[in-house]
This record gives sequence, structure tokens and C-alpha cells, in this order.
Amino acid sequence: MTVFELISLGFYNLKLINVIENFITEVFQSEVIILPQTQVPSDYKNIYRGQYDGFKLLRWSSNLKRLESSILVGLADVDAYVLGLNFIFGIADPKSRVALVFLERLKEAEGLQGVKFITRVKKEVLHEVGHVLGLRHCSNKKCVMVFSNSIYDTDFKEFKYCGSCYGFLIHSGFSVNPKYSLGEVIS
Ligand SMILES: [Zn+2]
Ligand SMILES: [Zn+2]
Repeated sequence: MTVFELISLGFYNLKLINVIENFITEVFQSEVIILPQTQVPSDYKNIYRGQYDGFKLLRWSSNLKRLESSILVGLADVDAYVLGLNFIFGIADPKSRVALVFLERLKEAEGLQGVKFITRVKKEVLHEVGHVLGLRHCSNKKCVMVFSNSIYDTDFKEFKYCGSCYGFLIHSGFSVNPKYSLGEVIS
């Protein structure tokens, strides 16, 4: 069974952490360890862009893991980028098994408490964990693995994997609650 570690970076919102903890448990039917919240190193902020370097945060956060085999899910209350993109909602690395979700852009017109905000965080968590588990971007606009160019794409997709992405995860040996599959499993 895959163990998850969940950490909040740069904010404290117990409700959000609890919701995401329960969500991960329900989707992946696995244990979730909550790590103590920590600050994001301020020197990873690009002063010209006013945004954090996604790859630097990814490398740094892999050291926060307690178990090598676990999947670390980090929720970071910052705006982040990688070269070539104006911003990113999240970033993941299958090797170190780290999935980061950046909250700043997900708050749009919602704030940290909104229902829509929490739904967006759930979608981005499933998306980045999907990358950790080996999934690539999907062309199905409703699938959580579609690439989100904007918050509208995020709002349009479901917090579910399409049949083909779901099938990939199941065939790779991961346990994913069938409730989070959009439809028939294509193998
Ligand atoms: Zn992606
Ligand atoms: Zn898909």
C-alpha cells in the first residue's frame, strides 16, 4: 500500500488539510501522514517575476519526506512558474515521488475558504499525484489529467480520471477508488 505524506507550505489551514487528507484516503485507500507545516524558502522566489521557481521547490521538498517510498503531497500557498510558462498550478516528480500544488492561482475569485477553491485543490492534487504514478497529460477535457492552461480548464475538468488514465493506474498496481473514474476502464 502506498503511504502519503501531506504537508502545508507557507500557510496554516487545518480545514483544508483535513479535507485533502480525507480525500486522499478515499481516492487511494491509503494511509496519510500529516507533516508539520513549514515555510517555503524565500530565496527560491524569483524577484523579477515575483514567483517561486517550481523545480527548486520540488527538489527542496523531496527532503521533507520521512519515508522514501511514500508520496509527498505539498500544498504551497505561493505562485510558482517554470521556464516557458507564465505560471503553474502544480509540479510533480515521479522519481522522488513528490507532488506540489500551488494555491495562489487556485484562489481566484474564491479565497482560501471557498468551496470552488477546495474543489480546485482536489483536482490539482489528483493531477500531480497522477504524474507521480506515471500518468502523462490526457486529451479528455473532463479527465483530471488534462493540462490546465487556465483556471477555466481546472473548473471544467472533474476530480476523476478518465477510463484510460484510471485503467493505467489500476494496471500499474495502484489502488484507486472506482468512484474516481469517469467511466469504463479501457485497458
Ligand atoms: Zn500536468
Ligand atoms: Zn485521462
